[in-house]
This record gives sequence, C-alpha cells and structure tokens, in this order.
Amino acid sequence: MASLTNKTALVTGGSRGIGAGIAKRLAADGASVAITYTKGADAAASVVTEIERAGGKAIAIEADAANAEAVTAAVEKTIATFGRLDVLVNNAGTAIPKPFEETRLEELDKVININLRGTFIATQAALRHMQDGGRIIMIGSCVGERMMTPGLVAYAATKGAVKMFTQGLAREIGSRGITVNNIQPGPIDTDLNPAAGDWAAPQLANTALKRYGHVEDVAALVAFVAGPEAAYITGANLTVDGGTNA
Ligand code: NDP
Repeated sequence: MASLTNKTALVTGGSRGIGAGIAKRLAADGASVAITYTKGADAAASVVTEIERAGGKAIAIEADAANAEAVTAAVEKTIATFGRLDVLVNNAGTAIPKPFEETRLEELDKVININLRGTFIATQAALRHMQDGGRIIMIGSCVGERMMTPGLVAYAATKGAVKMFTQGLAREIGSRGITVNNIQPGPIDTDLNPAAGDWAAPQLANTALKRYGHVEDVAALVAFVAGPEAAYITGANLTVDGGTNA
C-alpha cells in the first residue's frame, strides 16, 4: 500500500513550480489532492489531469492566499470533496526581489499577506478538521535562517516568521497528535526563481553543490514528512538547499 493511501492533502499554490511538484508526488504516494491557484486556471487544470491520468484524485480551487474567505473556503471545499483533511502544505508564496529601500508599502504588504498571513489562515482553517496523525507542512526558505544574497530582505523576514510559527505551533498542538514542520528550500528552478534569471548567480555561488535544485527534490522531503515514518518529527526546520546554509 502506498504511504498516503486514504489520506487527503491540500497544497496551496499548486498550479506551478514547487507546489505542482508536491501535489503530483503526494498523489503518486496515494493521497487525494486539492490544489489552490490564483491566475493559472489552465496550469492548475493540467496538474489535475496529470494526476487523474496516473490514477489519482485531484481538484483545483481558485483561492488567493491573501483572501481569508477564499482560503477558508478552499479548506472547506477540500473536505466537502474528499471527506477529510490529513495534510496541509502551505506552499503559496512570492518574492519581489529588489533593494529594501526601494520596496514600496504595497509590495511589503503583498509579501506578508501571501507568505505569512495566508499561512496563518489556511492553518487555522485546517486545524478545525484535522485529526490525530495530521500534518501541517510549511514551505519556508533557507533564507528564513541565513541570508547571503541581496534583494530578499522582506521575503526573508516572512520566511523567518514562518520558521517561528512552525516551532510555536508544534508546541501548541503536539498533544493532538498533529505534527508541524517547515521545509526550507534553497534555490529551486521555477518561474519564481529561474536558474537562468537575473538573481541566480549569487544564489548558485552559495550552494555547496554548485547547482540549482529541482521541484522533485523538495517534493520528496514533503512526501516523507507527510508520511507515517515521520510521525516523531515536529517543530523541525528541514533544509533542502544544496548546502547553501552549510
Ligand atoms: P512559483 O512562482 O513558481 O509558483 C507559485 C505557485 O503559487 C503557483 O502555483 C501560483 O499560481 C501560486 N500562487 C502565487 N500567488 C498565490 C496566491 N496569492 N495565492 C495562491 N496561490 C498563489 O513559486 P515557487 O514554486 O518557486 O515557490 C513556491 C514556494 O516555495 C514559495 O513559498 C516560495 O517562497 C518557496 N521557495 C521557493 C524557492 C525557489 O528557489 N523557487 C526557494 C525557497 C522557497 P498562480 O500563478 O495561479 O497564482
């Protein structure tokens, strides 16, 4: 039996990049999967089709992580469709790379609202339904712990907050048998952080492995943390960054 058979997962921001990779991997491991998106309805639909063609179950829900009602409704729709929620992956996130002194208030608000506030809201909504064995998984960042590249000051601050949210919440809900962990990717080749992009060179230079990672590298760790063998891991910040923070 696959490790996530009879489980349901919700992956926020699952239409592209790391979230799409996580959704496909959790489905391959047996979970029914809901993904959220904002603009990429076609991309989200193709993730669903790919999962269904492989024999899995998936739905896509339009839900902006900055919109509390939409996020809560996405959790409710996941449960209405699949009957339960076992794994929440708070993946939706964004960065607006630029020097901090040039960053506008609207840009600061956007990064905070998606990366941190959206994570709070989705987690609260999920916890209303999660049972013993549940998994809350954040997609933080290696820059939530150490900072070596310019242009990501506000972004790093939100990921540092996600790290402490993870640690605090793990203490608060451990007695319910629910684990809370933070997966911290390093440079992963996606639309947000293309390996050939303007901001890539210093990130690449900081890896020990001298290369960008792939979405599958992150998805594999998420799948392990979501699975039964990770039952005694909670409050942990697990970094998958090619040695960036070594
Ligand atoms: P991408 O920009 O490539 O993909 C983002 C995904 O999230 C898309 O599916 C997008 O769909 C969705 N999304 C964007 N904004 C929102 C929103 N407001 N509400 C709901 N969904 C949204 O990003 P990555 O895959 O690179 O990043 C995913 C996560 O991993 C983020 O939290 C990021 O901070 C983190 N991370 C990424 C790293 C990297 O190097 N790539 C490194 C460290 C951490 P749509 O366009 O339809 O909204």
